Amino acid sequence: MDYVIDEFPRPSVAVRGKTAKFPVRRIYLVGRNYAEHAREMGHDPNREEPFFFQKPSDAILPTGSEFPYPPLSSNVHHEIEQVVALRSGGKNIRVNDALDHVYGYAVGIDITRRDLQQQMKQQGRPWEVGKAFDSSAPVSAIVPASAIGHPQQGRVWLEVNGELRQEGDLNQLIWTVPEIIATLSTQFELTGGDLIFTGTPAGVGPIKPGDRLTGGVEGIADVEIQVQ
Ligand code: MN
Repeated sequence: MDYVIDEFPRPSVAVRGKTAKFPVRRIYLVGRNYAEHAREMGHDPNREEPFFFQKPSDAILPTGSEFPYPPLSSNVHHEIEQVVALRSGGKNIRVNDALDHVYGYAVGIDITRRDLQQQMKQQGRPWEVGKAFDSSAPVSAIVPASAIGHPQQGRVWLEVNGELRQEGDLNQLIWTVPEIIATLSTQFELTGGDLIFTGTPAGVGPIKPGDRLTGGVEGIADVEIQVQ
């Protein structure tokens, strides 16, 4: 392909046990998918339809990286999340077929400029400035489902400088992975290369330069970043 300006690299994520990488097309994220987190954000945790937002694919930051504290915010929060990596997709995927489209799983941190997100909510404006900024999606290597299956339970945790901040379990997801895939595929045509962050448990809070964030999902992987 010939382009009129320099080409840029396709974002990708490492895969455990393989030299080949997982190419990233879109990053979708689910809002308020654990009841305790919905409550801490001031919302009713009743089972209303899941809602989604996106980050750009080049917001990916590999685990083990330095995370540059982003500009324009004094309240940057961590949100530890299970991540689903799709091998294939489609429209209007049925719940019972959804897991056939999953390549594997990873662990990510949905980093959020909470002050800017709250301002945008209050003004009825889009969330991008609060959610979709550079390096806002640190993620572990992807672990193929062929190696670990499709975990439906497992501790979800995040520590800041060795102190536990977030803790939950995959079995507390309000919307399960198959339900998330099915609902999302009614809104967008999904394809291989799409990542879905499935929501965060309670305990979100601020980070500051110098902090070391470590987290994980039992049975999937760990993720770690150093805030610069
Ligand atoms: Mn989140």
